[in-house]
Amino acid sequence: MDEIVGAKGILTEPSPQENDMTPIRKIGIIGSGQMGNGIAHVIALAGYDVVLTDLTKEKVDKAIELIDRNLTRQVASGKITEEDRKQALSRITYAENYQGLSDADMVIEAATEDETVKRKIFVALCPFLKPEAIIATNTSSISITRLAAATDRPERFIGLHFMNPVPVMELVEMIRGIATEDVTFAKAREFVGTLGKTTAVSEDFPAFMVNRILLPMINEAVYTLYEGVGSVDAIDTAMRLGAHHPMGPLQLADFIGLDTCLSIMQVLYEGLADSKYRPCPLLVKYVEAGWLGRKTKRGFYDYRGEKPMPTR
Ligand code: NAD
Repeated sequence: MDEIVGAKGILTEPSPQENDMTPIRKIGIIGSGQMGNGIAHVIALAGYDVVLTDLTKEKVDKAIELIDRNLTRQVASGKITEEDRKQALSRITYAENYQGLSDADMVIEAATEDETVKRKIFVALCPFLKPEAIIATNTSSISITRLAAATDRPERFIGLHFMNPVPVMELVEMIRGIATEDVTFAKAREFVGTLGKTTAVSEDFPAFMVNRILLPMINEAVYTLYEGVGSVDAIDTAMRLGAHHPMGPLQLADFIGLDTCLSIMQVLYEGLADSKYRPCPLLVKYVEAGWLGRKTKRGFYDYRGEKPMPTR
């Protein structure tokens, strides 16, 4: 590789991916929860090979079953063909460890919204990756620059914030870290385009754009409940019929996951040092109780019966 003279006259090596627009074919996904399985679904349907990982094989098996159910629903509604479903499923495989991601062109991290968890993943993952592989994180709120610093490739690190449910929502927020190279950004944007999604570019500030706006509203809805201004049902009905939101804010909080909501509020509160982002104590209490919303069958609603029932 030729050496080039950098802007300050220092001899620098061009990074392995300078001018590299080699196509992305194989994608590793870390975390097969609601976002990981949705991302795997959309990416496999778009023709990419997907390698899915999680803490246990059982979690990945459950995720693949769910992807199959969701694909089957898309076949029933005429959005895709039975052949598309079969092909997409055949492209998704399981890896027991990061060795299984060694030939991935890109890895998308979609594990729990916890900076310590994510940093540990990146430290363990990097030694197994191809030097030119891109790492994307699906974090909803954590600094891309800080997460990138836990990797050996901040220039090939980017935030790709998919929305929930991934097969339905049209947007992917894109966030560069301070070191993200243009070619990484260009490749990632091209990749997102092939999934049929639209991108919106955000600066690397706590919770980016969508959740900077959405989560304080949800947190305020929890305060409204906490202060007894309205019941769960009244608050959600008010916002559905009074503001034409497709879901009430408490219903939406359950859908996102109350642990994820709390983590995002904590990142906003600490990152922007403004008391207006203080997480509502009632949200904290629900998370402490393990009532995390739909994924644990209980949150602001109880989902164990036939019909969701408000818990307050
Ligand atoms: P989830 O709780 O449904 O899934 C998280 C998954 O990560 C779990 O299956 C868990 O077992 C796995 N995991 C935890 N530690 C791991 C590790 N060390 N290695 C591998 N897997 C590990 O959460 P989710 O809603 O899918 O959120 C995942 C990410 O996506 C978070 O960063 C979240 O902020 C972001 N996100 C969530 C939403 C949403 O609406 N829920 C929307 C956009 C982005």
